[in-house]
Amino acid sequence: MTSLEDRHLEDGDSTPLEAGGPNAIAVANGVLADEWSLWIVRQALRGATHYTDWLNLGPIPGSALTTRLAALVDGGVLSKHQYSDRPVRYEYLLTPRGRQVWPILISMWAWEKGWVDDPEVNLPRMRHTTCGEFFDPILTCESCHAAIRWRDVEGKVGPSGDWSRNLQITARRQRSRNDKRPSEVVNETMELIGNRWSIAILGAAFLGITRFSEFQKRLSASPTIIADRLRAFADMGVLAQVPTPERADWMDYRLTPKGLAFLPVVLLMIQWGQRWFKAPDGPALVMHHVECGASLHVILTCSACHEPLSGASIEAVESGTGVVTGPLP
Ligand SMILES: [Zn+2]
Ligand SMILES: [Zn+2]
Repeated sequence: MTSLEDRHLEDGDSTPLEAGGPNAIAVANGVLADEWSLWIVRQALRGATHYTDWLNLGPIPGSALTTRLAALVDGGVLSKHQYSDRPVRYEYLLTPRGRQVWPILISMWAWEKGWVDDPEVNLPRMRHTTCGEFFDPILTCESCHAAIRWRDVEGKVGPSGDWSRNLQITARRQRSRNDKRPSEVVNETMELIGNRWSIAILGAAFLGITRFSEFQKRLSASPTIIADRLRAFADMGVLAQVPTPERADWMDYRLTPKGLAFLPVVLLMIQWGQRWFKAPDGPALVMHHVECGASLHVILTCSACHEPLSGASIEAVESGTGVVTGPLP
């Protein structure tokens, strides 16, 4: 991918993708689905702009910070500005697409709060400053304002939606047990989005695929890879193995309530990707809200007052200390 800066795009413009190359879902996943990248964006939303800000905010190694900042600039999430000649110093500012990552982060937070019990992670509570209440984000259709349920979403593979083009290109090193990680990012979330095959399998499951052979055929992946991911998702309780009606020794893989609850994260990532990265032949996925018939555009609303949430109306209250951060810019 050519960097955004090379192309002199205006702030609100999307990045054109190469014909036949990775599609918007793959590129968005490549840009965001990394634990340090998500952490860097989270801190940027709370006001971090300088290299040293991030170094001071968490246990990020300098080398990881350097590579992630470069990748986020390349993906158009941050823009890099020189603010001093002597010494040469840069600051990193969120672009419009960077400021639009907050719904993904808030929906990840809600899923982790509801479904993951990780003793190492102490999640804050989120307050909606408009109504003053603690809230859960509700995935809502922008057209008809109904809460979105999985069965109300109709998804069709679009012109650039060929499975081979859904796979992110960035090959990431497998994280070892001893690697430092941001304390705010939950392992299970990264299991679901941090592996190049994970999001593709999750997407296929949301589109109704249940059979091993179907996953393998649709994703053109090796049986070993498919088996490994299905096993990991079953271990996490995101997919459940159930005997098929035809043969008791064949298994269907069905999304559990925990898996279905991850839908907002997947939909918001796809929506963000398709808003900001455009394949010349069209979108990867075309979705409709069955209830109202509109093409699907999702927003988050407040569970307490039902008003749409904005990044600027959310503050985080640390559990234990009660320290308040935010609202997000
Ligand atoms: Zn609707
Ligand atoms: Zn509210």
